[in-house]
This record gives sequence, structure tokens and C-alpha cells, in this order.
Amino acid sequence: MLLKSLEIQGFKTFVDRIKLEFGPGITCIVGPNGSGKSNIVDAIAWVLGEQSARALRGSRMEDVIFAGSEKRRPVGLAEVTLVLDNTDGTLPLPYPEIAITRRLMRSGESEYKLNKIPCRLRDIQELLMDTGAGREKFSFIGQGRLEEILTAHPEERRLLLEEVAGITRSRWRKEQVLKR
Ligand code: ATP
Ligand code: MG
Repeated sequence: MLLKSLEIQGFKTFVDRIKLEFGPGITCIVGPNGSGKSNIVDAIAWVLGEQSARALRGSRMEDVIFAGSEKRRPVGLAEVTLVLDNTDGTLPLPYPEIAITRRLMRSGESEYKLNKIPCRLRDIQELLMDTGAGREKFSFIGQGRLEEILTAHPEERRLLLEEVAGITRSRWRKEQVLKR
């Protein structure tokens, strides 16, 4: 599963529509402080279903909608579309490309779409389950989190790695069996 492109409009600093195309391999985003690098990561987390405004560095979900600047008036709607390459079939849908869209109106009304067809948040959450991009989001390592991992005790780091590798559940099961 690869990120192919990201379209952002009205989300945080991105008032006008922008489209980022990601090539194969590693993508780096560079720019001055406050230029919107982290906002791009927030847009990816948001379109994948993030429900915590705090995780998106705001206090209310409405904070993701462009709030205006010296030159531009605020807008009433944020929309992000992430296109994933699914030619390897990681996502259980029979399409080589999957576009996930999320919109939020200032009125609080929100909308999710899969390949342009309206769906529920649950459909997106279910689609991403067990891919590492879903609810637990180990695919996002924030600035503070990196330091936390590097300075953690070996035992704590091991727990984290086990969680990422998806073996926490089997370890827990094994412990239950040994207890008997
Ligand atoms: P750094 O290098 O410091 O990490 P960055 O490039 O990651 O910077 P971001 O955190 O992505 O920068 O962007 C921060 C900017 O986004 C701030 O100037 C903030 O005012 C602006 N911003 C955040 N939310 C909104 C919003 N809803 N409307 C307009 N601007 C916003
Ligand atoms: Mg940043």
C-alpha cells in the first residue's frame, strides 16, 4: 500500500486546492517554520479518520478549517482526499486505487467518501484495520514521540515493537494459556 497523492482544500494553512503527488520511495517535505509541513501530516491523519482534535493540534475539530489570514477570509469547509495505491491488494476492496475523502463544514456536518461514493466513518475504519494506518496509527511518529522511543527503557521499547509487529495479542493469549 503506497500513498499516491494528497489533495487538500480549506484545511489549516491550505486555503486553495493543492495536490501533492508522491513517487515511490521516501518523500521529504522541507520548508520554513510554520509553512505547513506538519499540517500535511495532520491532513493525512485526518482523512484516515482521526477523531481527536488534540491529536491534530487543535482544541475543536473546527480548528482544521482554514481560519483566515491577513489577506484571506476564513472558509467554511475543509476537504482532503488521499489516494492509495492498492495494486498489492492490502486493502480489502477490489480496486487498484482507493481514494478516501473527508469533508467538514463549519456547521459541524461531515462527510466521508470511498472512491467518490459517500460512506460512513466506520467503513473507512474497517477498511484500514490491521494495516497500521487505522486507529492506533503506529505509522505516525511525531517529534516528541521519537525522543520518547529513543530514550525509553529496553522493556518499554520492546513492548512498542511488539505492538507494531502485531504480536501483542498472541503474547497476551500465550500468557493466558500458561496461567492455567
Ligand atoms: P515547523 O517547522 O515549526 O514544525 P511546520 O511547517 O510544521 O513548522 P505547521 O505546524 O504545519 O508548520 O503550520 C503551522 C501554521 O499553521 C501556523 O502558522 C498556524 O497558524 C497555521 N494554522 C493552523 N491551523 C490553521 C487554520 N485552521 N487556519 C489557518 N492557519 C492555520
Ligand atoms: Mg512541524
